[in-house]
Amino acid sequence: MADRTPLMAGNWKMNQDHHQATHLVQKLAWSLKDAKHDFSAVEVAVLPPFTDLRSVQTLVDADKLDIRYGAQDVSAHESGAYTGEISPVMLAKLGVTYVAVGHSERREYHHEDEAIVNAKIKSAFAHGIVPILCVGEGLDVRKAGEQVPHTLAQVDGALEGLPAEQAAQIVIAYEPVWAIGTGEVATPEDAQEVCGAIRARLGELYDAPLADGVRVLYGGSVKSGNVAAIMAQPDVDGALVGGASLDAEEFAKIARFT
Ligand code: PEP
Repeated sequence: MADRTPLMAGNWKMNQDHHQATHLVQKLAWSLKDAKHDFSAVEVAVLPPFTDLRSVQTLVDADKLDIRYGAQDVSAHESGAYTGEISPVMLAKLGVTYVAVGHSERREYHHEDEAIVNAKIKSAFAHGIVPILCVGEGLDVRKAGEQVPHTLAQVDGALEGLPAEQAAQIVIAYEPVWAIGTGEVATPEDAQEVCGAIRARLGELYDAPLADGVRVLYGGSVKSGNVAAIMAQPDVDGALVGGASLDAEEFAKIARFT
């Protein structure tokens, strides 16, 4: 099995202004330090709102923090008449490492379909930003037992035409919609079932070594109390954390995960 560095990414959603963002990142850095744990084998990232990115960049650079940061969305276009959108060129200038693409809230409230998600992934890669592709089924699909085919269809659509060099770098977050923000976390077995299927699909679409190297995260009501069991699954390489990432101490405990 490839050596996959776990990634713990905090999706702040639409929370924290740029002053609060600076405070939260500082507190996270202190909490990681306080934990007296060796975090060198884990990547910790935050995904603040666009308006916070410049402040976060300044702080991370000035204090040389070992914290990555990213955005929650990206335009499929580089520039032009796209009111309200943020270009990957602009994000790259702000030093972002990651961008979430196809989060269920974007799919639901902004009607993002597979074609848009696919275009955004290509747009991010074109500017050296690693997409965190979010996929996962709603409750009706889960109740029908269709979570694997549903999620794999999202993966197929999102990766359409993506060259292997880029697919090898992508991060995929399996986030069952019924678990996001509900406090109802998937069982470790449920997480493993779909994360394992995603990895197997990468093997079919590309090849086994590529699939073995891609990080597949779980997201949905992850907390310090449930993260260890989920991280113990062979195909789970980290977590995309929403609500709990707004509490620096809790997020640091999640990043520790053992
Ligand atoms: C998310 O927004 O991606 C998420 C997983 O949220 P939460 O952890 O709050 O369920």
